[in-house]
Parts: sequence; C-alpha cells; structure tokens
Amino acid sequence: MSAHIVLTSHPRRDASSLDIRWGAPTAKERGPLVASLTNPAHRNVIGSHSGSYAVYRALAVASGALRRDHRPDLTNTAPAVNIGPFPQWSDPDLIVSLDPWGHMVATEFAEPLAAGVDVRPTIAVTRAHINMPELKDAIAAGRLKPDGEILMANGDVRVTKAAIEPVWYLPGIAKRFGVKESALRRCLFEQTAGMFPELVTRPDLKVFLPPIGGMTLYMFGDVTRLGRPQTRIACRLHDECNGSDVFGSDICTCRPYLAHGIEVCIEMAQQGGVGLVVYNRKEGRALGEVTKFLVYNARKRQEGGDRAETYFLRTECVAGVQDMRFQELTPDVFHWLGITRIDRWASMSNMKHGALTAAGIEVVERVPIPEELIPADARVEIDAKKAAGYFSTYTPDPSELAVPKGRGLDE
Ligand SMILES: [Zn+2]
Repeated sequence: MSAHIVLTSHPRRDASSLDIRWGAPTAKERGPLVASLTNPAHRNVIGSHSGSYAVYRALAVASGALRRDHRPDLTNTAPAVNIGPFPQWSDPDLIVSLDPWGHMVATEFAEPLAAGVDVRPTIAVTRAHINMPELKDAIAAGRLKPDGEILMANGDVRVTKAAIEPVWYLPGIAKRFGVKESALRRCLFEQTAGMFPELVTRPDLKVFLPPIGGMTLYMFGDVTRLGRPQTRIACRLHDECNGSDVFGSDICTCRPYLAHGIEVCIEMAQQGGVGLVVYNRKEGRALGEVTKFLVYNARKRQEGGDRAETYFLRTECVAGVQDMRFQELTPDVFHWLGITRIDRWASMSNMKHGALTAAGIEVVERVPIPEELIPADARVEIDAKKAAGYFSTYTPDPSELAVPKGRGLDE
C-alpha cells in the first residue's frame, strides 16, 4: 500500500469524464455511478458502496484480508427476475434516494466495466423461500390455504426479494425536504463529523452514497405483473424493529403487524396480484437501538407508570424528536416498482400514508392490525399512535391514555 494519502478536502479539479444526467431516459444517457476508491479520476459520486459496511471493508483491507483494488466479478449475479424499466425512472423528481438502474449495472454499463471502470450494483434481486410460525398458524386456522405454488402445505412461501442500497441525488433530496442543497450538504458534512469533505468541496458532485442501511423488498406472486395498472397490489411498509421482528419482544406490534402484512400479501398473490413488503433499515424510528432502549427504561420508570399519554414525550426527552424516519423519501421505491395504486395497505401510519398520497400513489383500502394480534405490553404504543392520528376505527380518549397499561421494568 502506498504511504501517499489523497485528501478529498483538497480535491483535484480534473472532474470525472463520466457525467451523470440524473433522470435521463436510459441508463446509458444517465451514465454509470462510479465510487471507485482506487481511481479518483473515475469517481463521479461522493461516498462509498455498502453503506455502513464500508467500515468493515476498511478493517478487511487494514488487516490484509482484502486487496484494496479488488473489483467484484459480476458473473451470474444478474437479477433473478426482471424489474423495469418504468416511465417513473426517467423523472428526476420521482426517484431521488435510490438508483433505478442499480440492479442492471452489469448489462447496462458493460462497456465502461470492460474498459476497467469500477461500476458496482446498488440493488440485487434474488429468490427465496421463507417460513414463519405465524403463517403456519394462519394455515391451521384456515385463514390461509396452501396452493402449492406461492404457499406450500408446510408453510414455505416462495418470494422474490431485492436488497437496495441508498443512492441520494442531493438536489432532489434537498427539494423533497424544502431546503437549499448547500444547507443540506453542510448538515450532512457536519453531522458525519466531516467524514465526507466532498459534500462541501465538490458542489459539482451531485450523487451521495450515504453510510446508512438501505431496504429489503419481499415480493409475493408474479413480479413481472408490476407496472401494469390492472395489477392489484397489497403492501406492508415496515421499519426495522429487531427486538420484535426477530426476538419477539412484546412491547410493540412490529412483528405481529409484519406477519399480518405478509398474510395479506400472500392472499393478494393467490388472487393474481402482487404482494410487497418493504423492510426499511430504520431501527427505532431511525433513532437507533441505544436510544430506543433508553426510552423503554424512561417509560417504565416514570412516575405514574408506562402509559400512552406520555409515550411520545419520553422519546422526545431522550432523542429531541419523536421520529427521524422522515417518510418524504418513502415513495421512491414504489416509483421504482412502477406502482401507482396500492389496493390493500397494511399500515396504520398517517405519515407513511400521507407521503404516498402526496406523491400521487393511490391507497384504496387501509388494513389495520387485528386487535387480537396486539400484545398486552404493546397497548401503550398502539393507543398513543391512534390518539396521534394513526388510522383506526377507534380513537382512545384522554382518560384512557392516562391509564398505565405497560409492565413495570422488573415485571
Ligand atoms: Zn417494534
């Protein structure tokens, strides 16, 4: 490894010959996004691939396990199912937080790849079988019927899944939030402790690969039917909650609602439509799990016990805000999939619903979580959310919100 370090705070002004025209009608006209760390002359984006995992890559290089100039061999990595292109891909305002061509890099940018340019996919599409005990319960209860194609008798479900890394077009992100691009870039620079100097030194670079988690899509049914107006769509838009999703913690409704959403998706696929679960890496309302656990303690130790009326206040005391998920970027993935209407929407969040409808995506039927699926300790959360405007058939009144319903910390 050379001892020489190139600082991006004092950039070479020889701009990359690889121009980006965000929202251009074809991949070739848009141009490849190049985050090459070994050839600065090719770089036309800020940041690095793999989100926060770039730090593990650094450890791999530092420890000698990985060559710093390794380039991926993309043989046989093409999407298992074709997705797009859709007309939405060529509107620079509709998709600003992912690269719509991110799964088609190996074919669309074969020429620059062959010429030695390090272009990497930011999306991968594959197939899988999933199995959850809740789905077996749904079969046993007669709510779901195995069909041998989508749902097997043993509870296996055939899915298509896609992993998506964030790719931010900074002028579009700034516009979405109603702020100046320069102000956005400065905040990104400062809040990452100066990790990406090009945010402020290279205003000509408009695309940023942020060091955050992305999303995973689980799709049920014939994915090639996406993008047709007659295709009926069911969807659960889910933000990661490791404690509930994986470990079955009962303080919230996350896993029960996710499982219910998957049930709704399977039904839709069996009726000839497409089911979609969007799983966002936005742990603890994008506040992170440390903040989340601090809030749990504050809720359960507060005078008067864990109750809905102070649910959001306890989060605000620790985090300064109630929520950092900012659903403004939510519509992008639906535009990527060519979706203009969602027939069954398994979410009660008014913020998620508002973000979609503001982006011109119609939501026909909203499907709340069935009451019997709400764990006892999660009553605090669900009552607080309903009182704050979440979609439901019943809104609890203030006297009910004052009643402690959550377990104590040591119970
Ligand atoms: Zn949760």
